[in-house]
Amino acid sequence: MAESIKTDVVIVGAGPAGLFAVFELGLLDIKCHLVDILPKPGGQCAELYPEKPIYDIPGLPLVTGQGLVDQLLQQIEPFHPTFHYGDMVEALEVLGTAEAPSFRVRASGGKSFECKVVIVAAGGGSFQPKKPPIDGIEAYEEKSVFYAVRKKEDFRDKNVVIVGGGDSALDWTLNLQPIAKRLTLVHRRDDFRAAPHSVKAMRELVESGLIDLHIGQISHLAGDAGALSGATLKANDESSHEIACERLVPFFGLTMKLGPIADWGLNLHENLIPVDTEKFETNIPGIFAIGDINHYPGKLKLILCGFHEGALAAQKAHRYVYPDKRLTFQYTTSSSSLQKKLGVH
Ligand code: FAD
Repeated sequence: MAESIKTDVVIVGAGPAGLFAVFELGLLDIKCHLVDILPKPGGQCAELYPEKPIYDIPGLPLVTGQGLVDQLLQQIEPFHPTFHYGDMVEALEVLGTAEAPSFRVRASGGKSFECKVVIVAAGGGSFQPKKPPIDGIEAYEEKSVFYAVRKKEDFRDKNVVIVGGGDSALDWTLNLQPIAKRLTLVHRRDDFRAAPHSVKAMRELVESGLIDLHIGQISHLAGDAGALSGATLKANDESSHEIACERLVPFFGLTMKLGPIADWGLNLHENLIPVDTEKFETNIPGIFAIGDINHYPGKLKLILCGFHEGALAAQKAHRYVYPDKRLTFQYTTSSSSLQKKLGVH
């Protein structure tokens, strides 16, 4: 197994709450690694509503979901956080004591971290792909059936079938067509929810015979030992026929699940993590929960609440990371030492 990465804080989730916590921790000289199962930062803002306007971020009368994420990334840049994308935080082991906590955190893909503080900023839980209702699909998952494209080379010279009608399905249709042996797009109706320019480009590929478009659903898979060879396509008029398929990529959207966090020994309240409202600490000293994942009387699932919670959690985290250092409250406006950390002085 790879060596443990040693850091002050591991943040589970790179949504807006996790990102802004990097800033508040950074001002206190605390270093962070962020782990997110998604391939990019921004949590719900980037995944569910990147182009929608948000009107209630203090000081920003209007910002889109992705715009806010971009601004947060710019704001935390001086602190050089390390991001681990496409990794689900799975296991957490308490190593230290209540007075001097430390933890080992393990992520999917074999990464392991040793840290003094864990900040759970996991929102509604980890985003996980919705699966198509095809009997026996599990046997092919991660071998021939993929719910995300991580390595394009896995698709080179293969008969690729993409299922779905949203942006991901269309983007990957356009991206994989040049390297696939043959690409087939399957959608249950001839109406696509993706960006108009992607739909237009897809239709041009169909017209020029470079890809196949079928309206219907995949009802059955054929193959051996996880290696797909074909799929049955059921058209909307109930007729069916076989298509060559060595790679199936269904894009049916994402759902959010609490996942392995439920097994870490944290108290839970209806799948949320109860915290105090002074430090946003959980029942395990050294583990904090901020943003949509936490619960306390009066909680509002708003981005601005996650920002406030991160600021207060950082103050207590400082006590664990630097037990011998006194913390003096300072403003970024007037503190030259904070400005130096921000690289503006
Ligand atoms: P999230 O944004 O959910 O991010 C959590 C991240 O943690 C995710 O990326 C997830 O993949 C990751 N994660 C979870 N578990 C694990 C794990 N075990 N391992 C690795 N990664 C993990 N709020 C407002 O304030 N104003 C608005 O106008 C507004 N509009 C909204 C519109 C829509 C359509 C939606 C859906 C939400 C809206 N919200 C709005 C709510 C806002 O998006 C959430 O409050 C905010 O995203 C919560 O941030 P977060 O960082 O706590 O969690």
